[in-house]
Order: sequence, then C-alpha cells, then structure tokens
Amino acid sequence: MEENQRDAAAAGSEAGEEALVGNVNKLMVTPPGYTGVPRKGHLIFDACFESGNLGRVDYISEFEFDLFIRPDTCNPRFRVWFNFTLENVRETQRVIFNIVNFSKTKSLYRDGMSPVVKSTSRPKWQRLPAKNVYYYRCPDHRRNYVMSFAFCFDREDDVYQFAYCYPYTYSRLQHYLDSLERKNLDYVQRELLGLSVQQRRLDLLTITNPALLSSEKEKRLVFLTARVHPGESPASFVCQGVIDFLVSQHPAAKVLRDHVIFKIVPMLNPDGVYLGNYRCSLMGFDLNRHWQEPSPWAHPTLHAVKQLIVQMSRERNVSLEFYIDVHAHSTMMNGFMYGNVFEEEERVQRQAVFPRLLCQNAPDFSFSSTSFNRDVVKAGTGRRFLGGLLDDTSYCYTLEVSFYSYMTAGSSTPVPYTEDTYMKLGRNVARTFLDYYKLNHLVDDSKPSSHMSSLDALPPARQGKRNVKNQDGEKVERRIHSIRGDF
Ligand SMILES: [Zn+2]
Repeated sequence: MEENQRDAAAAGSEAGEEALVGNVNKLMVTPPGYTGVPRKGHLIFDACFESGNLGRVDYISEFEFDLFIRPDTCNPRFRVWFNFTLENVRETQRVIFNIVNFSKTKSLYRDGMSPVVKSTSRPKWQRLPAKNVYYYRCPDHRRNYVMSFAFCFDREDDVYQFAYCYPYTYSRLQHYLDSLERKNLDYVQRELLGLSVQQRRLDLLTITNPALLSSEKEKRLVFLTARVHPGESPASFVCQGVIDFLVSQHPAAKVLRDHVIFKIVPMLNPDGVYLGNYRCSLMGFDLNRHWQEPSPWAHPTLHAVKQLIVQMSRERNVSLEFYIDVHAHSTMMNGFMYGNVFEEEERVQRQAVFPRLLCQNAPDFSFSSTSFNRDVVKAGTGRRFLGGLLDDTSYCYTLEVSFYSYMTAGSSTPVPYTEDTYMKLGRNVARTFLDYYKLNHLVDDSKPSSHMSSLDALPPARQGKRNVKNQDGEKVERRIHSIRGDF
C-alpha cells in the first residue's frame, strides 16, 4: 500500500523499540525454570524458512504466548508480516497467541480480518474464524495494539503454519515462471532483467504476438509491476491472474496479444519477499520511495526496471500507455486504484476510464474508493514518478487490493478474499484492457466475432447494480467519443 505521513511518523516513533534481528529457529518454549525432558505440548516455533517471520516468543502461561514480529531487515520501523510454524502440539491443546509489536495501529483486524492457517494434513490455507481473533489496545504492551487469536490444535503429528496473509514466495514465483517457460509459447518471453543485492532473479515477462514486436507499426505497451512491498502477497496472486489470462487461449487474450505488448515484472523486491519483510528491501529501503534516483548498488532491481521504462519511453514507435503497480492494502476493503491529478479536466476524466471499466468487470473492485492525489510523501512512488515522466496519453496507477475482503454491490457483508479471488481480480484487470481498447476503437469490434460472445460468458460484474453500471459505462463512452482526438 501507499503509506501516508501519519503512519510513517507513528512507526518512526517506535523505531528502536525492538532489537530483534533474526527469526526464531526451531525454538522450543518450555515453562520458565523447566529442566525436565521435553514433552508433547511444549510448542516448537520456527520461522527459519522462506518468507518466514517471527522474532521472539515469550511464555506467559501454558495457554498463552506473546509473539514478536521480527522487523524488516535494516529497518526497525516496519513490523506487520508474520509467518511461522508450530509443532509438537498436544491434541486438544488450546492456546492464545498475542502478536504484540505491530508497527501500525489501524488494521483490518478491527473489521473481521484474521490470520491464515494450514497444517501438514490440511495444506490449503484458510482464514481463522473471525470470532477467535481480537484486536485491542493493550495496557501490558505500552498501550500498543495487540492482535490475539485463540487456536485449538487437533492433530499431534501435524506441523501448523500461521501467517498474516496467504504467502506467495520467491520460489513459488520461480516455479510458476519455470512452468510457463516449459510450455514454449511463442508469445511469452522470460528474461533476466537483473539481480537483487542477494543475487536473486529480477524476472521480466513479455507477452505479445511476436509479429507485433518485429513490425514497424506503433507499439502499444502496458507495463505492470508487483511486490515492490514484499509483505503484500495478494499482489502476487493478482499479478499471476493477469499473466494466466494473458497467456491463455481465451479469445480476448489472443486479441490483446495481437494489439498490445505486455511487460510484467512480477516481483520487484525478491530479497524482501524471500526474507519475510513487510515493506523494505534487504538493506532496509522502501523501494517505492526511490524512483527518482535509484542507485544501481543499493536498489539494483528498481534501477533496472526504471532504466528499462525510461529507455522504452524514448523509443520511436513505442507508446507506453499504462503503468500499473500492484499493492495490497492493510486498512481498506475491495480492490481500488490511486491515480495522479492533472490540471486539465479532460485528462483527469481520461484517467478515470480504466478504473471505471474495471469496476464493471470485477465485482470486488470499487471505483468509489479510487482516488487521485499528489501528496508530497508519495513523490518517490512509481506511479507519481512515471506520471511525471511519461506523456499525457500514458496512465499510471497503483492497484491496491485489500488484505482482507470486498463487499459486493447491495451487500453489507464483507467477503474475505481467497487466493482464487485475488487471481480472479487479476484476470479481470487483464480483460479490462480489451474493453479499454475497444472503447477507444484501437481494437476492432465491428465484426461479430467469437471473442465477444465468450467475453459475455464471463461472470457478470455487480449484478445488483447492473443498470447503474451500464449507465456509467455509457457516460464513459460518450466522454471518450468527445475526446477521441487525443488518443
Ligand atoms: Zn504497498
């Protein structure tokens, strides 16, 4: 997410509070002074694995433990992501875990969010029941906000894993990209754009009809990045959803590949993801504040992406039309976007077109939560920096998706996101490009073709508000017709 000044100040005042540097490593927690042999029920905590994060465990009683998040590497201000395993449990053992050192105060835990859990015999992640989760200001912990959750273990041989949200690791991405590569699709290219400080891959995918790359025609380009903030794992599911759709045999995907070049960097901060950080790189930088002057040694992945974008923006015949950076939001619901503000009203309206169209396609995307700003603190973000660099026919957005849930039209009950619904948002983002280009008559939709009917076959968005949305869409269309000369 894009952090505001108040969050930053609040986090800063707590800097140095915790001197935790490493993850717990197969730590068996026994009652103080206990010298006997280890027993079943003496919990063993571990976070020494990819994307793991747990810095300290305090024994309160047989039934209660205080847990401390390990701050981001080289930056104690950020403590949000956690991800650890537990074993050596006793059947029917009931325990309360208190996570006591979050660096944020506002949280979706107040609205029903809960940690995710899985175990060796039940490997699919699930959210804990919200009724077992409490979020409150605690007098015992310097009035810090504490999230407590109760859990009852049921299988002695299982290893249980708890996390802030569904993990999506660097290795998972590598496996996904490897399997994509093995398909040998001529319209997908995977390149090594650079290496991180710890020598992890910075992957770049190019998805397009190869004929388009070699042609002399003007090339329309869409650039997408994700995981600049490593703890924002939902961004990876959204990004994978975009890729899955674009490489698919769906007729809409084929039309898009024939007309548009998609460049995707699925993991902009691979070290941060690997290390289980929430917001920073290995060296403690929030990379989304360094777009103005990334250093090749301190921010090598950002430097490489920026160089590529700048170079492409200067190429003849290349028109970089969209830059979208995918994030996850810890206090808002739904998917929504941030965009830039402009002096000219007409440009403002044009910028609102894509989010409006996405709102029609994705039941979880909210146009009313979408906002446009020029905060000084966000000047170093990709959206703001590239918004200034690229010309006025380019659109730069941050796409945010809630860590927790969305509300569909006409309902007041939040629907918690799953890995699948995050990916579905990504698929809807991808197909919205076709709507956008059709609306602008850059893709021919005059002849009745099979892709129209199959698009219609996709689940309709926001059924309850269909009429309203249709009106909305017509408004957009009228506006576009009146300003088409600018495209
Ligand atoms: Zn973010």
